[in-house]
Amino acid sequence: MSNGLPRVLRAAPAGPGIDIAAAEDATRRLLQALGYDTSDEVLDQTPRRVAAAYAQMLTPVDFEFTTFPNEGYDELIVARSIQFHSLCMHHLLPFVGVAHIGYIPDGRIVGLSKLARVVEHFARDLQVQERLTEQIASCLQEKLTPNGVGVVMEAEHMCMTLRGVQKPGTTTVTSSLHGAIRNDPRTRQEFLALVRGDK
Ligand code: ZN
Repeated sequence: MSNGLPRVLRAAPAGPGIDIAAAEDATRRLLQALGYDTSDEVLDQTPRRVAAAYAQMLTPVDFEFTTFPNEGYDELIVARSIQFHSLCMHHLLPFVGVAHIGYIPDGRIVGLSKLARVVEHFARDLQVQERLTEQIASCLQEKLTPNGVGVVMEAEHMCMTLRGVQKPGTTTVTSSLHGAIRNDPRTRQEFLALVRGDK
């Protein structure tokens, strides 16, 4: 299996086709429905900007998931506080936070920057945080087949802090644990302590 050459895998593409002109048109109509005069010079370019912003936030960036042979490391590898932002599927409002990712390698390891790329890839979609967490863990499980993988995400949802119950500073925490990080109590505890930043 290990021939010393990096194994290159492509992350699965996601996201439907985006019709920019239709998005601009719909934004203009939304502004009108909210009582704004879109012929006003100040709002003239807003539909174009909004459509472009959503298109960017909903278009995943493809990348090469390059892995390397593991030279015998069998302990946890943890990348903490990977910043991300995504869009809540229920309100089209952002949720913003950090992801902590750990894995125990088997035959392959991956560059740490690729872990951030995986987060970014799945975050550029209409999301719920639970699904995002699960997708990242499943992707790493599938592509690395490690002995264990854990993903913990903490995020502030604008739909909670700016509307509805309006509780600024509230964070939502989700986790997806697989393999030894889920099943071995010592490893699980070690992972969660590293995520919390305990010494
Ligand atoms: Zn929401």
